[in-house]
Amino acid sequence: MTMREAKINLMGLSLAKMQAFFLELGEKPFRASQTLKWIHQRGVIDIDTMTDISKPLREKMKSVAEIRLPHITQELRSADGSCKWIVQVESGSSVEMVFIPEAGRGTLCISSQAGCSLDCSFCATGKQGFNSNLTVAEIIGQLWWANQKLAGFGVKPAQEWSEDGKPAQNPRPVSNVVMMGMGEPLLNFENVMDALSLMMEDQAYGLSKRRVTISTSGVVPAIDRLKDFTDASLAVSLHAPNDELRSELVPINRKYPIKELLRSVSGYMDTLSDRRVPVIEYTLIAGVNDHRQHARELAVLLKDFPCKINLIPFNPFALSDYRRPSSSSISNFRQILHEAGYTVTVRTTRADDIGAACGQLVGEVGDNTRRSQRYRDAAEAQRENDQQGGVEHNSETAAGVTGKRFSSADNLAVVIEKPSRPSV
Ligand code: SF4
Repeated sequence: MTMREAKINLMGLSLAKMQAFFLELGEKPFRASQTLKWIHQRGVIDIDTMTDISKPLREKMKSVAEIRLPHITQELRSADGSCKWIVQVESGSSVEMVFIPEAGRGTLCISSQAGCSLDCSFCATGKQGFNSNLTVAEIIGQLWWANQKLAGFGVKPAQEWSEDGKPAQNPRPVSNVVMMGMGEPLLNFENVMDALSLMMEDQAYGLSKRRVTISTSGVVPAIDRLKDFTDASLAVSLHAPNDELRSELVPINRKYPIKELLRSVSGYMDTLSDRRVPVIEYTLIAGVNDHRQHARELAVLLKDFPCKINLIPFNPFALSDYRRPSSSSISNFRQILHEAGYTVTVRTTRADDIGAACGQLVGEVGDNTRRSQRYRDAAEAQRENDQQGGVEHNSETAAGVTGKRFSSADNLAVVIEKPSRPSV
């Protein structure tokens, strides 16, 4: 290694890559397990304090490697106990991660990209355009930081949370991870796979495959490859019962339509050794996809596709005219699916007072695609039109943020409803 080359970041090495690292140093592979335990179970990032590794080896390690984490620049606490952290990554962008405590479990929602190239119409992240893929260290670093912030190092691994919802005494606070933060995880395939392997690795976080979920908008070729890399759980962002509507809401559907997507997901689920089913995510948007007929169509579409359905009432944000459906629409939609024999849950809205509810994550993305500028220009034009027509704007509407950089630091990009609507 020349002086100019960056040192290897041990934070981002899976067990296999850590073993290769030590072999390269002329050391035994068991050093990899030792090092993973220091970093991911004890939260140690100073090589000098890894006391079961000899001093000469520590010096050797330090000459070629280091342990680098992304930076936490802000922490926001919700009234409901959830927590959002703003995480600055090496590209200069910031992403967001959210911890949601519930009875019997603690879920961490992790980002995989700064921004997103896919532009789903109901998603704040998509409006920001795309900046970069996160590295393995930046993805697993979010889990590391959550454990650090929530006093999770040095306590029992997450699998000791019992399945009946009663935690073992003093378990780790993060029992579940969902790759549902900013970005499409399967468009950052290799890095996400390495990060998942660390989440599920006994020498690292030891999370159960049932408690680690990849959420995808439907990148079919990547789903087809998944079985060779992981056996994590899968959630599919469907959001519509037919191709015409889905192509409007989830543009990647034009490339990989519903039939192909369901075929690919079934193929992956068939390779798993247990009887898990995928979760179908369906964001309910008032007047767009929340009609009873949509529910009936969805019930028919999925009739030969074992799954659970998770309904997510739309969470408002600036630059979106969509609205959340009424409680009765949500309830009707759910009832139709329930009567058709599906297991249906309605996601409780959490942390919307800190802009951390589903679909609201924005971070601060140095957009490479100019998409965010286009959205702001459109909002500005709309605002001018409305002003000419005598329409007043609230400072929290889309036009209210025009010209300012998207930033969660001041929550500009999120429409906070006041008073907050009750959770569904
Ligand atoms: S929903 Fe997911 S895939 Fe779609 S734009 Fe948002 S982050 Fe990207």
